[in-house]
Amino acid sequence: MAPPKYLTGDKAGIEEFLSRFDVFLFDCDGVLWSGDHLFPHVPETIEMLRSKGKRLVFVTNNSTKSRADYKKKFDQMGIPAEVEEVFGSSYSAAVYIARILKLPAPKNKVFVLGESGVEQELDAEGVRYCGGTDPAFRRDIEPEDFINIANGSALDPEVGIVLAGLDFHLNYLKMSVAFQYLQRGAVFLATNIDSSLPMAHSLFPGAASAGAGVAKAIGKEPLSLGKPSQAMMDAVEGKFQFDRSRTCMVGDRMNTDIQFGIDGKLGGTLAVLTGVSKKEDFLAEDAQTVPTAYIDSLGSLLG
Ligand code: PLP
Ligand code: CA
Repeated sequence: MAPPKYLTGDKAGIEEFLSRFDVFLFDCDGVLWSGDHLFPHVPETIEMLRSKGKRLVFVTNNSTKSRADYKKKFDQMGIPAEVEEVFGSSYSAAVYIARILKLPAPKNKVFVLGESGVEQELDAEGVRYCGGTDPAFRRDIEPEDFINIANGSALDPEVGIVLAGLDFHLNYLKMSVAFQYLQRGAVFLATNIDSSLPMAHSLFPGAASAGAGVAKAIGKEPLSLGKPSQAMMDAVEGKFQFDRSRTCMVGDRMNTDIQFGIDGKLGGTLAVLTGVSKKEDFLAEDAQTVPTAYIDSLGSLLG
């Protein structure tokens, strides 16, 4: 495997690298910003790529926000982007459920472990759901709940899918209801299965934690609709129609972003060192996931 090319400060190398691609799939957190901190020269870099005629798609695993929420964030950050250029894991899950899985009614309702971003995207695709942010599920489990869950009286007979995304209000009641639906044959999906979540300069449990408890209980893993799952790549390609050999994935995380590009047989991958993965992760002899090239920060592309 060729070692990754270091492009920061290499004007000719950057020019040549950019010329290989028509489309750039961009990870967001760790590349454009970290939380609410915009990285230097990001808006100008995005403008520069647009001025060269590149098509951009912003592919994020953050399911807590909808595409509309993300558009607001882009506006606040001063990054030029259209809502139609955003492809989040909550949207990816909604598209998969509505257009690919297509379970027949009435048993096609979704029980959601997750936040409002998931609900907004399910609404946008016309998918019915329950759970989610409903206050009825944001409470401690009571003794009668065990009986009503077990005998089915607390369940919705139309639920045929359990969708797990990062849920800041995850509790034993929701997990018990989700597990019951899975025992009754519901399809098990996850918006994404990030092991950890970077926040406030530290790592917290990621979206995998939402589905992990019920996955352990039922003894099977959910199908993930987030990076690096190729179900997401297929959904992105289904919407945007691009030549994979002329497409580059830009990201900060080896096991989600860069693996996503490699598994998708894209023309190249570009690692940005402003996020989770460090260069030692991919320069090591035994590195599993190695990008085509890397830069210190996205602004390095300005040369
Ligand atoms: N999931 C959540 C809930 C997040 O807040 C974030 C980052 O903000 C991510 C996932 C990772 O997002 P990305 O794929 O843009 O790095
Ligand atoms: Ca990232």
